Formats: sequence, structure tokens, C-alpha cells
Amino acid sequence: MTQDAERKMQFIFGIRSKGVTDTHVLTAMERIDRGQFVTGVFAARAYEDVPLPIACGQTISQPSVVGLMTQALKISPRDKVLEVGTGSGYQAAILSQLARRVYTVERHRPLVKQAAETFQKLNLSNITPILADGCHGLPDQAPFDRIIVTAAAEDPPSTLLSQLKPGGIMVIPVGQSDHVQHLIRVTRTDAGFDYDELRSVRFVPLVEGLEKER
Ligand code: SAH
Repeated sequence: MTQDAERKMQFIFGIRSKGVTDTHVLTAMERIDRGQFVTGVFAARAYEDVPLPIACGQTISQPSVVGLMTQALKISPRDKVLEVGTGSGYQAAILSQLARRVYTVERHRPLVKQAAETFQKLNLSNITPILADGCHGLPDQAPFDRIIVTAAAEDPPSTLLSQLKPGGIMVIPVGQSDHVQHLIRVTRTDAGFDYDELRSVRFVPLVEGLEKER
């Protein structure tokens, strides 16, 4: 086996051992090369199950957490998905393999630009990256079948909940930024919202408004 194939196998094996068992999610993670989303000095560590720094002081999430969040969303091939917090674009790329259409919003312009270039390079044409404050969701494209927030909020924002279709699912880390946060899955039912707690996680905070440009 080549060194590259061996590294890929270890990567998937590691994710699996952390509880990602959905074969569609594992296949998506096998197809999308995380190395394309990490640049500079950290590129060499792209296949380790750790979060890594990206531009604008943000982070690309830990692969096993990306897998668990994706799995928790229970995506169907016809789904329209909103991601809040594009970051490197890695999570959006995984979603693009499972859903019909992915809208991903980010408050840092350089990250949107970089992610858009990566999506183009990898031919991921069903992802639309947008510079926007995800606290307001994406009213033009709402409602969504699935919403994933990859930054921590103190509570699930009510605007986002209102942009979820009946039967829709949202996955979001909830808690203060420098504390342990809980990954929550919210399901919209005819009667209201059902909540279940998945595990503890650590994410950068959801920040209101676009980042000021210098
Ligand atoms: N999903 C990313 C990880 C993102 S880190 C990946 O796969 O790489 C969280 C991101 O959320 C950061 O880039 C941060 O700038 C962004 N973010 C925080 N608050 C936001 C908001 N209100 N609207 C849009 N993006 C936001």
C-alpha cells in the first residue's frame, strides 16, 4: 500500500473508532481530502484527528466531530442544507456529498473567498458560499431541511429555528465559548421542537455581525 493510501485508511479508521458508523458519511469523508482545506505549516497534520488553526483566527474542526455532526443530521439526498460558519469549507464539502444543495455562510470575507476557490477547484458545484451573519440565517433560501452551526451559541438562535422545515433537524454546539459546550440536536415537530444532547464539544463562538474590514 502506498503511504498516501495507508494514511487515508488510518484517517477513516480513526473517525470510525470515535463512533462515526454511517457508511454514507464515511464514504463522503473518504472522498473529500482534508489536506485541501488546511494550508501552511499545519498542512502536514491534516490527517490527524485534531482541530487545526486556519486564517482569521478560526479553526477547522476535528474530523471525528465533523463526522458525528454530519451523522446526527441524518441527511437525505434531496435535502437543502444551511451551514453557519464556513471556516475552511471542509464541513460544507462533506455535506455536499450527501445533500442536494448546501448554502454556507461565514462572517469573515477572506474565509469565504478561500473556501469558494477550494470548492471550485474540487468541482463541488452544489455549494453556495455567502458572506453573511449566520445569526440571521439565510431568509432568501429558507426554509431548510437541515441546519448545522459550527460555532457555539449560548442558545439555539430562534431565527435559525424558524428557518427549519417541519421534520427538519438542526445540530448546534450550545454553551459559552471558553467552557465545555454541548452538541444539541433539535428536531422540528408539528407540535414544536424536540431536543437531544449528543456529547460535549469545543467550538469558537458564534459572533454577531460581519467582521470589520481594514
Ligand atoms: N465548519 C468549519 C469550521 C468553522 S469554525 C470548517 O469546516 O472548517 C467557525 C466559523 O464560524 C468561523 O470561521 C467563524 O468566523 C464563523 N462564524 C462565527 N460567527 C458567525 C456568524 N454569526 N455568521 C457566520 N459565520 C460565523
